[in-house]
Amino acid sequence: MVSHEMGLRIGLLGDLHGNSLDAKSWIRRTQPDFCIQVGDYWLYDEEWSVPMYWIFGNHERSKAVRGLIDGTYPLSENNRWLMGGLVDIQGVSVMALPGLPQARGAPGPAHYPPKVYELCRRQAGAHVDLFVSHGCGFLFGAMARDIRTGRTEFLNFEEEPITELIRLVRPTYAVSGHNHRFAVEENEGITCIRLGHRAGSLAHMVEIEPRSQVSGADTHNGLP
Ligand SMILES: [Zn+2]
Repeated sequence: MVSHEMGLRIGLLGDLHGNSLDAKSWIRRTQPDFCIQVGDYWLYDEEWSVPMYWIFGNHERSKAVRGLIDGTYPLSENNRWLMGGLVDIQGVSVMALPGLPQARGAPGPAHYPPKVYELCRRQAGAHVDLFVSHGCGFLFGAMARDIRTGRTEFLNFEEEPITELIRLVRPTYAVSGHNHRFAVEENEGITCIRLGHRAGSLAHMVEIEPRSQVSGADTHNGLP
Protein backbone atom coordinates (compact mmCIF):
# COMPACT_ATOMS: atom_id res chain seq x y z
CA MET A 1 0.00 0.00 0.00
CA VAL A 2 1.40 3.38 -0.95
CA SER A 3 0.84 6.03 1.67
CA HIS A 4 1.20 9.66 0.75
CA GLU A 5 3.22 11.13 3.60
CA MET A 6 3.01 14.82 4.30
CA GLY A 7 5.55 16.74 6.28
CA LEU A 8 4.71 18.08 9.72
CA ARG A 9 3.70 21.72 9.77
CA ILE A 10 5.67 23.48 12.49
CA GLY A 11 4.71 26.97 13.59
CA LEU A 12 7.72 29.07 14.66
CA LEU A 13 6.85 31.90 17.05
CA GLY A 14 8.94 34.93 17.96
CA ASP A 15 9.19 36.83 21.26
CA LEU A 16 5.63 36.84 22.65
CA HIS A 17 6.15 38.87 25.84
CA GLY A 18 2.80 37.56 27.06
CA ASN A 19 0.96 38.28 23.79
CA SER A 20 -1.17 35.15 23.49
CA LEU A 21 -3.93 36.80 21.42
CA ASP A 22 -1.89 37.26 18.23
CA ALA A 23 -0.26 33.85 18.63
CA LYS A 24 -3.63 32.15 19.07
CA SER A 25 -5.25 33.85 16.09
CA TRP A 26 -2.27 32.81 13.90
CA ILE A 27 -2.54 29.21 15.17
CA ARG A 28 -6.30 29.19 14.48
CA ARG A 29 -5.73 30.43 10.93
CA THR A 30 -2.78 28.22 9.98
CA GLN A 31 -3.35 24.99 12.01
CA PRO A 32 0.24 23.87 12.70
CA ASP A 33 0.89 20.38 14.12
CA PHE A 34 2.93 21.97 16.92
CA CYS A 35 4.74 25.22 17.66
CA ILE A 36 8.21 26.22 18.78
CA GLN A 37 8.71 29.58 20.49
CA VAL A 38 12.11 31.28 20.76
CA GLY A 39 11.98 32.82 24.26
CA ASP A 40 10.79 35.99 26.02
CA TYR A 41 7.64 33.95 26.43
CA TRP A 42 5.84 34.76 29.75
CA LEU A 43 2.87 32.47 28.95
CA TYR A 44 3.62 29.71 31.45
CA ASP A 45 -0.06 29.40 32.44
CA GLU A 46 -1.55 29.57 28.94
CA GLU A 47 -3.72 26.80 27.49
CA TRP A 48 -2.79 26.05 23.87
CA SER A 49 -4.72 24.04 21.26
CA VAL A 50 -1.48 22.48 19.93
CA PRO A 51 1.75 21.58 21.78
CA MET A 52 3.81 24.72 22.44
CA TYR A 53 7.53 24.04 22.90
CA TRP A 54 9.46 27.05 24.16
CA ILE A 55 12.84 28.12 25.48
CA PHE A 56 13.94 30.81 27.92
CA GLY A 57 14.75 34.25 26.55
CA ASN A 58 16.77 36.83 28.46
CA HIS A 59 13.50 38.36 29.71
CA GLU A 60 11.37 35.89 31.64
CA ARG A 61 9.38 36.10 34.88
CA SER A 62 11.84 35.35 37.68
CA LYS A 63 9.31 33.46 39.82
CA ALA A 64 8.51 31.10 36.96
CA VAL A 65 12.21 30.67 36.09
CA ARG A 66 12.98 29.55 39.65
CA GLY A 67 9.95 27.25 39.78
CA LEU A 68 10.73 25.66 36.41
CA ILE A 69 14.34 24.98 37.35
CA ASP A 70 13.47 23.48 40.75
CA GLY A 71 10.50 21.57 39.29
CA THR A 72 7.73 23.21 41.34
CA TYR A 73 6.08 25.26 38.55
CA PRO A 74 2.94 23.49 37.22
CA LEU A 75 2.88 23.93 33.44
CA SER A 76 -0.37 23.22 31.57
CA GLU A 77 -0.44 20.14 29.35
CA ASN A 78 0.46 21.69 25.99
CA ASN A 79 2.97 24.05 27.58
CA ARG A 80 6.34 22.34 27.05
CA TRP A 81 9.54 23.92 28.25
CA LEU A 82 12.74 22.94 26.42
CA MET A 83 15.72 23.19 28.79
CA GLY A 84 18.22 22.94 25.94
CA GLY A 85 20.15 20.44 23.83
CA LEU A 86 18.83 17.93 21.34
CA VAL A 87 15.27 16.58 21.46
CA ASP A 88 13.10 14.56 19.10
CA ILE A 89 9.62 16.02 18.64
CA GLN A 90 7.33 13.73 16.65
CA GLY A 91 10.29 12.62 14.53
CA VAL A 92 11.67 16.13 14.02
CA SER A 93 15.13 16.75 15.45
CA VAL A 94 15.33 20.03 17.41
CA MET A 95 18.39 21.51 19.11
CA ALA A 96 17.61 24.27 21.60
CA LEU A 97 19.98 26.94 22.96
CA PRO A 98 17.97 29.14 25.34
CA GLY A 99 18.72 32.69 26.32
CA LEU A 100 20.02 33.38 29.80
CA PRO A 101 17.24 34.89 31.96
CA GLN A 102 18.51 38.10 33.55
CA ALA A 103 17.06 40.00 36.48
CA ARG A 104 17.34 43.36 34.72
CA GLY A 105 16.09 44.03 31.21
CA ALA A 106 19.21 45.72 29.88
CA PRO A 107 19.49 45.90 26.08
CA GLY A 108 22.23 43.92 24.38
CA PRO A 109 22.96 40.33 23.47
CA ALA A 110 20.72 37.58 24.86
CA HIS A 111 23.65 35.42 26.07
CA TYR A 112 23.00 31.73 26.85
CA PRO A 113 23.76 29.27 29.65
CA PRO A 114 27.40 28.17 29.03
CA LYS A 115 26.77 24.56 30.06
CA VAL A 116 23.91 24.24 27.59
CA TYR A 117 26.15 25.71 24.89
CA GLU A 118 28.76 23.02 25.70
CA LEU A 119 26.06 20.33 25.62
CA CYS A 120 24.99 21.47 22.14
CA ARG A 121 28.63 21.44 20.97
CA ARG A 122 29.02 17.87 22.20
CA GLN A 123 25.81 16.85 20.40
CA ALA A 124 26.96 18.34 17.08
CA GLY A 125 27.20 15.64 14.43
CA ALA A 126 23.64 14.42 14.94
CA HIS A 127 21.07 15.28 12.29
CA VAL A 128 19.30 18.53 13.27
CA ASP A 129 16.25 19.87 11.44
CA LEU A 130 15.73 22.96 13.59
CA PHE A 131 18.30 24.83 15.66
CA VAL A 132 16.43 27.19 17.98
CA SER A 133 18.11 29.97 19.96
CA HIS A 134 16.98 33.22 21.52
CA GLY A 135 19.83 35.38 20.18
CA CYS A 136 20.92 34.89 16.57
CA GLY A 137 23.89 33.66 14.59
CA PHE A 138 25.31 35.07 11.31
CA LEU A 139 25.44 38.72 10.31
CA PHE A 140 22.04 40.24 10.95
CA GLY A 141 22.18 43.98 10.65
CA ALA A 142 19.72 46.82 10.57
CA MET A 143 19.72 50.56 10.95
CA ALA A 144 18.42 51.02 14.46
CA ARG A 145 18.47 53.48 17.28
CA ASP A 146 20.94 52.40 19.91
CA ILE A 147 19.06 52.86 23.21
CA ARG A 148 22.33 53.49 25.04
CA THR A 149 23.76 56.17 22.74
CA GLY A 150 20.50 57.53 21.29
CA ARG A 151 22.07 57.46 17.81
CA THR A 152 20.70 55.67 14.78
CA GLU A 153 23.41 53.47 13.34
CA PHE A 154 24.07 50.10 11.74
CA LEU A 155 23.73 47.42 14.41
CA ASN A 156 24.74 43.82 13.92
CA PHE A 157 22.70 41.56 16.21
CA GLU A 158 24.87 38.49 15.60
CA GLU A 159 26.23 36.59 18.60
CA GLU A 160 29.41 35.08 17.16
CA PRO A 161 29.54 31.98 19.40
CA ILE A 162 26.04 31.11 18.13
CA THR A 163 27.30 31.42 14.54
CA GLU A 164 30.18 29.03 15.42
CA LEU A 165 27.73 26.55 16.94
CA ILE A 166 25.38 26.69 13.94
CA ARG A 167 28.36 26.10 11.59
CA LEU A 168 29.20 23.00 13.62
CA VAL A 169 25.64 21.66 13.89
CA ARG A 170 24.61 22.50 10.28
CA PRO A 171 20.83 22.42 10.85
CA THR A 172 18.36 22.82 8.00
CA TYR A 173 16.86 25.86 9.76
CA ALA A 174 18.35 28.20 12.38
CA VAL A 175 15.53 30.01 14.18
CA SER A 176 15.92 32.98 16.53
CA GLY A 177 14.16 35.96 18.07
CA HIS A 178 15.27 38.64 20.54
CA ASN A 179 15.80 41.48 18.04
CA HIS A 180 12.15 41.71 17.04
CA ARG A 181 12.97 42.01 13.32
CA PHE A 182 11.62 39.51 10.83
CA ALA A 183 13.83 38.11 8.06
CA VAL A 184 14.42 34.83 6.26
CA GLU A 185 18.01 34.65 4.97
CA GLU A 186 20.35 32.00 3.57
CA ASN A 187 23.78 31.76 5.21
CA GLU A 188 26.25 29.06 4.10
CA GLY A 189 23.38 26.81 2.99
CA ILE A 190 21.43 27.22 6.24
CA THR A 191 18.06 28.97 6.22
CA CYS A 192 18.10 31.52 9.05
CA ILE A 193 14.63 32.51 10.23
CA ARG A 194 14.65 35.64 12.38
CA LEU A 195 11.23 36.17 13.97
CA GLY A 196 9.52 39.43 14.81
CA HIS A 197 7.21 40.18 17.71
CA ARG A 198 4.12 41.85 16.21
CA ALA A 199 1.01 40.32 14.64
CA GLY A 200 2.33 40.49 11.06
CA SER A 201 5.85 39.26 11.81
CA LEU A 202 5.80 37.02 14.85
CA ALA A 203 5.22 33.69 13.15
CA HIS A 204 6.52 31.59 10.28
CA MET A 205 5.55 28.08 9.13
CA VAL A 206 7.98 25.39 8.02
CA GLU A 207 7.15 21.90 6.80
CA ILE A 208 9.49 19.07 7.78
CA GLU A 209 9.31 15.37 6.92
CA PRO A 210 9.62 13.52 10.25
CA ARG A 211 12.56 11.12 10.28
CA SER A 212 11.02 8.45 12.47
CA GLN A 213 8.53 7.74 9.68
CA VAL A 214 11.41 7.40 7.19
CA SER A 215 13.38 5.03 9.44
CA GLY A 216 10.13 3.24 10.35
CA ALA A 217 9.71 2.40 6.65
CA ASP A 218 13.26 0.95 6.61
CA THR A 219 12.40 -1.63 9.25
CA HIS A 220 10.14 -3.49 6.80
CA ASN A 221 13.24 -5.11 5.24
CA GLY A 222 12.39 -3.95 1.75
CA LEU A 223 8.89 -5.38 1.73
CA PRO A 224 6.33 -2.95 0.33
ZN1 LIG B 1 15.23 38.88 24.28
